[in-house]
Amino acid sequence: MQAELGETIIEAETIQRRVRELGEAITRDYQGREVVLVGVLKGAAMFLVDLARAIELPVTMDFMAVSSYGKSTETSGIVRILKDLEESIEGRDVLVVEDIVDSGLTLRYILDYLLARGPASVRVCALLDKQVPRRATVPIDYTGFVIPNRFVVGYGLDYAELYRNLPYVAELQVSHENGGGPEPL
Ligand code: 5GP
Repeated sequence: MQAELGETIIEAETIQRRVRELGEAITRDYQGREVVLVGVLKGAAMFLVDLARAIELPVTMDFMAVSSYGKSTETSGIVRILKDLEESIEGRDVLVVEDIVDSGLTLRYILDYLLARGPASVRVCALLDKQVPRRATVPIDYTGFVIPNRFVVGYGLDYAELYRNLPYVAELQVSHENGGGPEPL
C-alpha cells in the first residue's frame, strides 16, 4: 500500500486560532477551579499541550494510552489500557482531551472508566468530530472542528506512526500498488 498526503483539511493557523478559542471557553467555564487534563496518547498529545497553554487556570496533565483489540472488539467497544493515569481523579474536575471521535467507542470506554473513579465532573474536548454515525453515545462538550468522513493525519494523528508532526490536518490517500484491486492473500 502507498500513502500520500492529500488535500489540507485544516490549516495550521486555523487550528491555533480554534485552540485559543477553546482555551478561552474552558477558562470561562471552570473559573475558580482546577482542571485535570487527561490526554489519550499518542494522538491527543499535540492538541493537549497547545490547549493547556491556552487555559488560564491551574491545570494538571495526565495521560492514558489505550489500544483496541481489533475488529472483533471494536463492536463491543472493549479497549485495553496500556497506560493508566498516574494521579487520582477522585473529587476532581476532569477534562478528557481527544484527537478525533469517530465511532465513539474508544471515548465511551474511557469515559466509563474515568466515571467509575469518582471525579467531581468529567467533560470532553475533542479536536475533530468526524461526521459518521456514532456507535456509542458520547457527549462532546468542546469541539474543535466537525470534519467529513475521511481518513486524516497531522497535528498528532498518524498513519503507521508517521505524520503526527504536521502542524496542519490533511487527508491521507492510501492507494494499492496493484491498482486498487483486492489485496493479495
Ligand atoms: P473511535 O473509537 O471513535 O471509532 O476511534 C477513535 C480513534 O480512532 C481515534 O482516537 C484515532 O486514534 C483513530 N481514528 C479515527 N479516525 C481517524 C482518522 O481519520 N485518522 C487517524 N489518524 N486516526 C483516526
